[in-house]
Amino acid sequence: MNKLAIHGGPKTKTTPFGSGNRFGEAELMELKEALEQGTLFYHYGEKVKQFLHKFNEMYGVKYSVATSSGTAAIHVALGAAGVTAGDEVITSPITDQGTVIGILYQNAIPVFADVLPDTYNLDPASIEARITERTKAIVVVHLAGSPCDMDAIMAIARKHELKVIEDCAQSYLCYYKGKLTGTIGDYGCFSTNDFKHISTGDGGMVTVNSGREDDYAVTHAFADKNYQRFDHVVSRDIHHIAPNYRMTELQGAVGIAQLDKLTWICDTREKYGTRLIEGLSGIASVYPPKITEGGTSSFWFFLFRLDTEKLTGSVDDFVAALNAEGISCVRGYIPQPVYLQPLFQTKEAYPGTNYPFTLSEVSYEKGICPQAEEVLQTSVRIGISEFYTPGDIEEIIEAIAKVAAHMIKGGLS
Ligand SMILES: *Cc1c(COP(=O)(O)O)cnc(C)c1O
Repeated sequence: MNKLAIHGGPKTKTTPFGSGNRFGEAELMELKEALEQGTLFYHYGEKVKQFLHKFNEMYGVKYSVATSSGTAAIHVALGAAGVTAGDEVITSPITDQGTVIGILYQNAIPVFADVLPDTYNLDPASIEARITERTKAIVVVHLAGSPCDMDAIMAIARKHELKVIEDCAQSYLCYYKGKLTGTIGDYGCFSTNDFKHISTGDGGMVTVNSGREDDYAVTHAFADKNYQRFDHVVSRDIHHIAPNYRMTELQGAVGIAQLDKLTWICDTREKYGTRLIEGLSGIASVYPPKITEGGTSSFWFFLFRLDTEKLTGSVDDFVAALNAEGISCVRGYIPQPVYLQPLFQTKEAYPGTNYPFTLSEVSYEKGICPQAEEVLQTSVRIGISEFYTPGDIEEIIEAIAKVAAHMIKGGLS
């Protein structure tokens, strides 16, 4: 076998990865129409309404609400679920900051449960172990497009009368036992920021899965200062605080065109991710991710683990060697679990005060979620794009196999 590129050997990947334009004529047409309306306000225009109508049809839900971001979508769902000061909300330590922001803005306390070592998603047993009389909701994160074990999680939630919010920012068109993620819990939250499967620049959606009109009304109002704007009636009967997280017509317009591409994007990513799992299975020291039983993934990125005991070098050495082969990658997804940030270590969400953490006795010490800490230390993340070619995927597999063969104890080099 050839020498590693990092040691002066030939690179595995010598041609550029497939690329393409995610925006085109369809987005331009929609934007033009939006501007020609003479209003960019969601309540007066038609674009956000059409966008949601299309999204609802794809997802088979009766109601959803548009928001200004995925972070906003999660905050809106928490507000609709009645999460308030002093409540505890259980969530995953391997996620985007956007998952916890709304919890803290409701003056509720994030509680981190551990993840499973192979799916990197919340472990139902760990969720149940963290439930106290303060627990109000669970925010599950379907990481990288891969569904959580929702039957087990929903059973725990029903038993303890907890609301379930699904963070689907990374999991468009993923199925769990025939159901789309985002339609299983009480609310499903999506992001259309510029890095997600589809982009409106920024934006988000919340599904209201009860299908009840009153639930929809509360959710809708929470994204709009608690003003109640329905049809031609606007009421400003304000009982509690709510933010302004409205989506504009410009975002709605781009979203309409982007939704037409979503099925192709997710199908292509699923095909590529599935091939990567297959291609990496059987490479000594490399563990591809496991997809929860009964689930499908639309692979927002691809995270695999290394058995460092079997390797001559560290995860960082592996990452450096793979980058040198022409496969851009990093260690982990986020550098460390969310609770190890200074924010949680000092319990200072708001400068100069420990509120709302003072309302509860939750610990954020290192070691509270050992699996999550281990996953982030021993995993490698590579990007997947719907614009890649099948050949690109084969070269990724080839490069990983080459690096692993060189770094395996008792192997080459
Ligand atoms: C992107 C993301 C968010 C936040 O979405 P924004 O639109 O950036 O606010 C929340 N949760 C997860 C898991 C994400 O990946």
